Order: sequence, then structure tokens, then C-alpha cells
Amino acid sequence: MDPWTAVDRSTIWPYEEGRPRKFSYARDAHPTGEAAEHALGTLEGGRALLFTSGMAAAAAALLGLLRQGQTVAIAADAYYGVGLLIRDLERWGLACVEFDQTTTPPAGADLVWLEAPSNPFLTFPDLAAAAAGAAPVLVDATAATPVHMRPLEHGADFVLHSATKFLGGHHDLLLGVLVCRREDDHERLLEFRTRTGAIATPDAAALLLRSLETLRVRVECQSATALELARRLAEHPAVERVRYPGLGPDPLAARYMGGGFGGLLSFDVRGDAVAVERSVKLIENATSLGGVRSTIESRRRWEGDRVSEGLLRLSVGLEGVDELWADLEQALGAA
Ligand code: PLP
Repeated sequence: MDPWTAVDRSTIWPYEEGRPRKFSYARDAHPTGEAAEHALGTLEGGRALLFTSGMAAAAAALLGLLRQGQTVAIAADAYYGVGLLIRDLERWGLACVEFDQTTTPPAGADLVWLEAPSNPFLTFPDLAAAAAGAAPVLVDATAATPVHMRPLEHGADFVLHSATKFLGGHHDLLLGVLVCRREDDHERLLEFRTRTGAIATPDAAALLLRSLETLRVRVECQSATALELARRLAEHPAVERVRYPGLGPDPLAARYMGGGFGGLLSFDVRGDAVAVERSVKLIENATSLGGVRSTIESRRRWEGDRVSEGLLRLSVGLEGVDELWADLEQALGAA
């Protein structure tokens, strides 16, 4: 027999109608994506869907769940890219109200959009109080990760991750995740994802699976280092203010996050923030966050007036705490 005919092609090409193959077309679902979704669904306690990016997941949540004339109440300090998207969607008849997520969400919204903790202001909402309201609640938990927080357990209906960040963790992935508590929401968003072709590719899903193996050890280490750096920064004379949920700690973060507060923090310097970001040597002056290498940047460049001139966002990687502190100290000298 020709050995090529003897190869079991289902292991190479899984797409065929009928039994035993269950995948018909990769835009709908594929085995590698399903494996990653299964792992993420288990970690979050819901049904997960992979998207090409965090923004694609955000767009699917807004367009797949809401319709013309409906209102989304969004945390005023939610990731600025989501704010831009929502304002863009006003052209399509979606209304948006911003609110301070440390207070109760406004009544009458059709979806409440929280970010816990927020990027880059690190505020923290009361998840259970928001979930007690009438509207479904989505929590962008990119900075918390399922290592420290499981929003569905506290009544949220959806969890969103930019898996480009801590879940991917190596600066080599662009991916988004949306986890649904309810089966009918999952079905609706799966259908929307198929229509729009926003599913992550199998190779991106494979990299995510690789990364999930080390998620806990990475994030626990990043959180411990971030807490120590936040404490040291708070004592530094060139630093005006440090924002980190583990400082204090923030009582709501302490209630909803277990065992750590994540690898993201921000701080205001008294002098020139741009001089500080340009002076780091071990830390990268780069915009992404959540990876194995620490990154720092002045957010004013992107977010304009909503961010103070002195604000620097620091994403803590896996370098040693003393090496990172030495780099920050010498860079703060430039402020
Ligand atoms: N949500 C948060 C909190 C983010 O920080 C980002 C990106 O920085 C996004 C969503 C969007 O994710 P992506 O860049 O993967 O599209």
C-alpha cells in the first residue's frame, strides 16, 4: 500500500463533516483553539472563546450582545482603546455612559463594563455589588489574570482578557479571550465570531497553550516583585504617588484577588517622566505589558490629557527584584 494513503489524515486535517470528525471549518472552531478554550474555561469557571486580539474580543462583546439604542456603562478609566471603540460605535446607535467604577454603576444600562484592576490607574470595582444590579456585567481582568481572580464566581457574566498580556506572557502573541457564564451567551458570541471571522489562528492558540503551562508561576513571581517595587517606589523622593492594589492594600482588591495583586503598577514622578523611561537599561521602554521582560512607558503619549504628565506605567517581568530596583533608581535620577 502507498504509505501516503495509510497516514491517518484526521490527525493532520481535522475538518470533515460527519463522525468521528467534529470540525468543519477553522473560522468556526479548530482543535488547538478548542483545547486552549477548554483550559481557559476551566480556569475561569465558564465557557471561553478565543479571538484574534483583546480588542476583537471587546468588539464582539459590544456588537454581539448589544443592539442599536442600547447603552453601555463603562468605567471611565477602562483601557483607553475600549473607550475609543465605544465612542466609534456611537455612530451605529450604541450609547455610552462613563462612570467612576469605585461607585455603583448607573441604572438603566444594558451592559456594565468594568476593569479590575484598571490600566493604568489601577482602580478596583466592587464586582459583587455591580453584579447585583439589573444589567449584565463584563469584567476586563487582563491585569488580574485567573491566577488571582475569578470574576464569574463573584456574579460577573463575562470575563475579558487581552491574552496578548499576562496569559501569553512572552511578548510574542496577539490574542483575546472572552469567557461567558451562560451557555446561551456563549452560543450567541460563538456565532458572531464565526460571522466576523475573529477567531484566533491555531498557531496563536498553540502558543497560548504553551504559555498557560507557566501562567501561575509567572504571575505569582510578577506579583511578588511588583509589590516589593511598589513599596520601594512609595518611599522614593522623586516619586509623588504609586498606584498598586497591593499597597494598603485596596480593600476591594484584597476581597476579590487572592494571594497577589498582579504585575502591573503605575506611579507619578515629580520631574520628567519621559527622561525616566528613556534612562532605563534593564527594563524595556515599550508599550506592551504582561510579559517576561519588564516594560515601562509614559502613558501621556497615547492617552493625552486623561493621564498626568508624570505618570509612568510599569509592567513587572521575571527579572530579579534587586536588579529591577537598581535600574529604576538610576533612571529616577534622570527625573
Ligand atoms: N484590555 C486591556 C486592559 C488592555 O490593556 C488591552 C491592551 O493593552 C486590551 C484590552 C486590548 O488588547 P489587545 O491589545 O490584545 O487587542
